[in-house]
Amino acid sequence: MPAPAERWLIAGTGTEVGKTWVAAALARAWRASGLCVAARKPAQSFDPTDGATDADQLAAATGEAADVVCPRHRWYEVAMAPPMAAEALGRDAFTVADLVAEMQWPDGVDVALVETAGGVRSPIATDGDNVDLAGAVSPDLVVLVADAGLGTINAVRLAAAPFAAPVVVMLNRYDGGDTLHRANRAWLAERDGFDVVVDVDALAGRVTRRA
Ligand SMILES: [Mg+2]
Repeated sequence: MPAPAERWLIAGTGTEVGKTWVAAALARAWRASGLCVAARKPAQSFDPTDGATDADQLAAATGEAADVVCPRHRWYEVAMAPPMAAEALGRDAFTVADLVAEMQWPDGVDVALVETAGGVRSPIATDGDNVDLAGAVSPDLVVLVADAGLGTINAVRLAAAPFAAPVVVMLNRYDGGDTLHRANRAWLAERDGFDVVVDVDALAGRVTRRA
């Protein structure tokens, strides 16, 4: 089982900023261009009344099965961070190393996506958060999904700082007609020096692997 050619970690400044939407859109764009894409959600917790889980949505985008994207024993049916949900449900504690060991990749994967859970410093396992997961996964690129509006400069600065890997900031739901969105984009890129994109096509173009 050779390692994927390229690994991207999908992180977010917080929960509900659009990590899954961005990851699924990336997968679709790359597959349309002929790349082989796989996605993993090492653990997911969710409100069971909410409909399609992240694993379901990623599976639909990559063509994998949802329980390959996230092993069934890492589905936690309560809306808390995964290790907290596990405890609330009376299920076993687990470590970042457990999650990494469970991430299996098929042969011939050009790009592998790993979606984190919650925000950058949200617990992903009993012994670590999404930054610790990034340390174990060693991604080629971290995609930091952020809102485009009020508060995003603070959120991006805080969330990008802990990563050792290169970070690209994806301002999700960006509206070029919105003065604040444009100002936030300019500030982050020009004053703070972040690599900023505002649409999935531009983000997809950052892959170095070509079909
Ligand atoms: Mg998600």
